[in-house]
Amino acid sequence: MDIGGLETVVANSAYVSARGSTDAGAASVSRDRKMRARLQLPHITRCEHLRGRPDLDFPTVCLRQPIGKRLFQQFLEEQETFAPAGGLWKSVEAYAAAEESDRPRAAQETVNRFFDSAAETFCAFLEEAAVARVKEDARHGRADLFQEAEGQLLRHLEARAWPGFKETLFFSRSLQFKWLEGQSVSEEWFLDFRVLGKGGFGEVCACQMRATGKMYANKKLNKKRLKKRNGYEAAIVEKRILAKVHSRFIVTLAYAFQTKLDLCLVMTLMNGGDLRYHVYNVDEKNPGFPEPRAVFYTAQIICGLEHLHQNRIIYRDLKPENVLLDDAGHVRLSDLGLAVELPEGKDKTKGYAGTPGFMAPELLKNEEYDWSVDYFTLGVTLYEMIEAKGPFRCRGEKVENKEVTRRILHDPVKYSEKFSAACRAACEGLMAKDPAGRLGFRDNQCAQLKGHPLFQKVNWGRLEAGLVEPPFVPDPKTVYAKDISEVGAFSTVKGVVLDEQDRAFYDDFSSGNIPIPWQEEMVETGVFGELNVWGAKGTVPRDLDP
Ligand code: ADP
Ligand code: MG
Ligand code: MG
Repeated sequence: MDIGGLETVVANSAYVSARGSTDAGAASVSRDRKMRARLQLPHITRCEHLRGRPDLDFPTVCLRQPIGKRLFQQFLEEQETFAPAGGLWKSVEAYAAAEESDRPRAAQETVNRFFDSAAETFCAFLEEAAVARVKEDARHGRADLFQEAEGQLLRHLEARAWPGFKETLFFSRSLQFKWLEGQSVSEEWFLDFRVLGKGGFGEVCACQMRATGKMYANKKLNKKRLKKRNGYEAAIVEKRILAKVHSRFIVTLAYAFQTKLDLCLVMTLMNGGDLRYHVYNVDEKNPGFPEPRAVFYTAQIICGLEHLHQNRIIYRDLKPENVLLDDAGHVRLSDLGLAVELPEGKDKTKGYAGTPGFMAPELLKNEEYDWSVDYFTLGVTLYEMIEAKGPFRCRGEKVENKEVTRRILHDPVKYSEKFSAACRAACEGLMAKDPAGRLGFRDNQCAQLKGHPLFQKVNWGRLEAGLVEPPFVPDPKTVYAKDISEVGAFSTVKGVVLDEQDRAFYDDFSSGNIPIPWQEEMVETGVFGELNVWGAKGTVPRDLDP
């Protein structure tokens, strides 16, 4: 074995073993004790300035942020007046995640406990009409059975429980966690593992948050290379968009910080490689996916696109290479560096952006365009997963961009016998040259596309909850990435001097912990439970005693 090969083997085995020790939820095993000891809640008197922060409203603290929500639910359980509401809340959340076959039973149980006026935990705040409808529909076990009641429940909690909650030690505890979350992070908190891939401005490495043991991917953007190639705008857009979206179908940003040389984006680690690698390199003699596998990925991609479009973001760079697999075989969209956010009131944009062979006709013609360009790229991606070749170029064909553009604008796409009738129809609907007739996003959702015959077997509710088993599970011992020596090194950047203005930009970029993913990490790795100690009933813990 040559040195390069040996280097890869050593790096892979360190990485595979770090990964293995965290997969089983036993992150604490591989934690760095010294770093963990630095995660401590401050005394409550140091958190008073956070109390009136306007962004800490009911939906943010109690619904969206996992630590706030847990503490709010603990508070509800302890209060006799709110215990039924707290129970109903847990019950409807469990219902939403239940298997379809379990739903009628779960529905009946929920109805008996909370909707029956004779029950001990009857929820009297629910409106009579809604109670009657739920009782009537319970035996169907529909996914949205409790939607209306849940809305009433949350309004009730906001009006009645939230004001009182803010006076309790539970809320003070949530402020202590907010304080901890607001502390700055730097490279000393992360341990780097092997390189996973190479981006335009730097490497992407696997890394581990030392205090919790959680594994992430660290995308590094070299400061000088960014400046030399005018990459600031793209870097801040990518960071802002990643921090804003929260979907299981898009990589999540957990931390943004800087080192002397790089800006760093720490995000969901996707261990399973990208779809391009799986289409072409895993089984080179038999490239491409069987249709059910391609349909599964396409369905998950649609969920990701729908979330982006609901947040007014156009992705513009969908292609197999940018869709990454996790340990379980679920996929997420990554690389949002070309995305744009449309301001409220503006529904179109202009500009040449994307990858040759994927860009929609209206974009290539330099016309104004909207989200529909992403459904064209989805069509190209689906086609490539089936055919193991793009619709507008042959594999390995040396062809100028101008010719690819001409084909996209004018040539019909050819379909081999690998496509079923439904799959071909879906590709044709997505790759419609005129955006007005293209399948996609209408009335703020993808309902029409999701209802296409190609997705007949997809249970969208369970897919969206992450409960559908993937058709392919990556081997946990394999590293689905090129050998380190093939990743290639960067040349050093010469002749760039960084000044005050650059430093101001870097400080702005390095905003530190992103609240929701940070809180998820604390809960998932057990750190939240270790820090959230209360002592004997009726006593006030020392750190909360003013
Ligand atoms: P660029 O925007 O510079 O193209 P990417 O975001 O595409 O950078 O990242 C470069 C490469 O790094 C990807 O092609 C992929 O191989 C790897 N990579 C990126 N993000 C992750 C991740 N979250 N998990 C695992 N590997 C990743
Ligand atoms: Mg990329
Ligand atoms: Mg990019």
